[in-house]
Amino acid sequence: MIACINFVPAPAEDKGADLHLWRHRDEEDKPTFSSKATWEQRRVHNPKLSWCKAVWLQQSISRFAFITWLAFQDRLSMGARSRAWGCVQPCLFCGELDETRGHLFFACPYSFTVWIDLVGFLLGSRVNPD
Ligand SMILES: [Zn+2]
Repeated sequence: MIACINFVPAPAEDKGADLHLWRHRDEEDKPTFSSKATWEQRRVHNPKLSWCKAVWLQQSISRFAFITWLAFQDRLSMGARSRAWGCVQPCLFCGELDETRGHLFFACPYSFTVWIDLVGFLLGSRVNPD
């Protein structure tokens, strides 16, 4: 510890007053604080996912975007997840005990019928269920 203390030069009045500097980027220190620069240094940078623009639109409603994000992450509160907590929650549409994201959006007969009708309305007769 004494070696570390001796390694730092002693303050000298001819060098001016001490400054508080904030790291903005790599090897770039400034006297002003930036919460954005601090956040950019602290956060983990991951590659952008292919579906992020479909979820985080500028005009999107926040709660709907958040629910869509949960669906993409497979974090919705489904029967399969609540079963792990000791609560049985079957699919409300068809009664299937194994309610998962895949079941609700793609395998449930009720939601399949809704999707086919909706897509049939939007695309006409060019509907392919697959
Ligand atoms: Zn179902």
